[in-house]
Amino acid sequence: MQETKDFIVRGVTRDGFIKAAAIESTQLVEHARQIHGTLPLATAALGRALTAASMMGDELKNENGSVTLQFRGDGPLGAIVTVSDSEGNVRGYVQEPGVELPLKAPGKLDVGAGVGAGVLTVVKDIGEREPFSGKVELLSGEIAEDIAYYYVVSEQIPTVCALGVLVDVDQTVKQAGGYMIQLMPGAPEEIIFILEERIKEETARRRTVTSMMEEGMDPKQILEYMLEGMGYTELYQHPVRYECKCSRKKVESAIVSIGREELKRLYEEEETIRVTCQFCDKEYTFDKAEIGEMLMNGK
Ligand SMILES: [Zn+2]
Repeated sequence: MQETKDFIVRGVTRDGFIKAAAIESTQLVEHARQIHGTLPLATAALGRALTAASMMGDELKNENGSVTLQFRGDGPLGAIVTVSDSEGNVRGYVQEPGVELPLKAPGKLDVGAGVGAGVLTVVKDIGEREPFSGKVELLSGEIAEDIAYYYVVSEQIPTVCALGVLVDVDQTVKQAGGYMIQLMPGAPEEIIFILEERIKEETARRRTVTSMMEEGMDPKQILEYMLEGMGYTELYQHPVRYECKCSRKKVESAIVSIGREELKRLYEEEETIRVTCQFCDKEYTFDKAEIGEMLMNGK
């Protein structure tokens, strides 16, 4: 397993009315950039979506749970899909990694225009029953706002979400991270007021997650700062990574799932089938004998 500096920290306020998480995701976003060869716009869009997925997945209590985020917009980046396990380890891809658009402002990538208008689908699989799935329209395509909007509409949880990916001049990822602050039912007005004021202040000063990270703040310090005066206590922290869970066996069952007819056609027409994992670019090949075996064993 690769060494990593990336980690998630999670905490609550003493009264239990605010839940919060923050993450440093620089290395996992850089890892994604290397796998997919993304240009800066796609690096930022995919990076933000990976960062959000990690915080959302990490929140799941059950061991084999997962959270999938699907951004389906009409912008030139195409679909963005990210998946996190319940430890916050993520994988993902963007349909068009090589898209470029004019900057929105000096140094600001126009992720919203890249993603476009469309729908965000969130699927939470907690390993039992049907997975929970929620769907909202994309508010801005800027990812963080869309996630916050999802929580408000689909889960009725007032949420502040900030995500940032700072791409260096050589196109590598210089900083990536985010935080998510959520209000629990019954939170007193004064807490909401303090939090709103803090966020207004930060916005007015144009302070972003990545600018805080550039100042040397880590996720712990970002949460302590954002929730200062609100009785914040840390619950835990742990490392997170870019991690694909594909295997030959899983690819095989995916091939079998295309149906007997189609499999038979492949067996007759192809010498080998090549399947490339969308998440990690690993290639799996199956020869005629193996396809024949799937045909015999499959129902
Ligand atoms: Zn893979």
